Amino acid sequence: MFTTENLIKTLELFKEKIDANKDYLSELDTPIGDGDHGNNMARGMEAVAESLGSKNPDTVMDVFKLTAMALISKVGGASGPLYGTAMMEMAKASATTTEVIPILEAGFLGIQKRGSSEAGEKTMLDEWAPAIEAIKENQLTEELLQTFAEGTKELIAKKGRASYVGERSVGHIDPGAMSSKYFFQSLLEAGV
Ligand code: ADP
Ligand code: MG
Ligand code: MG
Repeated sequence: MFTTENLIKTLELFKEKIDANKDYLSELDTPIGDGDHGNNMARGMEAVAESLGSKNPDTVMDVFKLTAMALISKVGGASGPLYGTAMMEMAKASATTTEVIPILEAGFLGIQKRGSSEAGEKTMLDEWAPAIEAIKENQLTEELLQTFAEGTKELIAKKGRASYVGERSVGHIDPGAMSSKYFFQSLLEAGV
């Protein structure tokens, strides 16, 4: 179940992991993109922390909403609107439930819709889809999240900048899948 506390904790942990792995995420984005994913996410999560710190939201919905707005307004790259839409759809879903699975599924569908994408196209969805399935079976672990991110190596990019290099994207981990790994790992660690 999401609570205001465990959601704020999740976002704090997510920001820490993004900051700690900022250079790594940008390195992953170099061969198949423009090398800015770590910087984009770090800038976005800095804005999230500032917004949550100054506005003190006290519902799950408001935490998701402020997070969405900060990401959408502060991240120029593809990942800002995509993560932002996920957070906004999770805000909407949290109006009627605090259950984890339907909320995460709403986020997943939001990315799919905003990105006109689906799992299998070497994007963050290739982390979100199997992670949500594993949560449903109560089997999510950090190791599994890492396996899902590494699983994007063998996929051919069909969406976003990585699609420009087409088959040459094979062998590289998708940066958005790796940043999404940190998001799900943060959920786990926050005890959501
Ligand atoms: P940009 O590509 O604009 O520089 P980022 O580098 O911050 O933005 O983000 C790239 C990541 O965004 C990719 O690794 C991928 O996971 C994700 N992404 C890009 N386009 C899509 C899409 N259409 N659907 C889902 N995810 C996408
Ligand atoms: Mg990029
Ligand atoms: Mg960019």
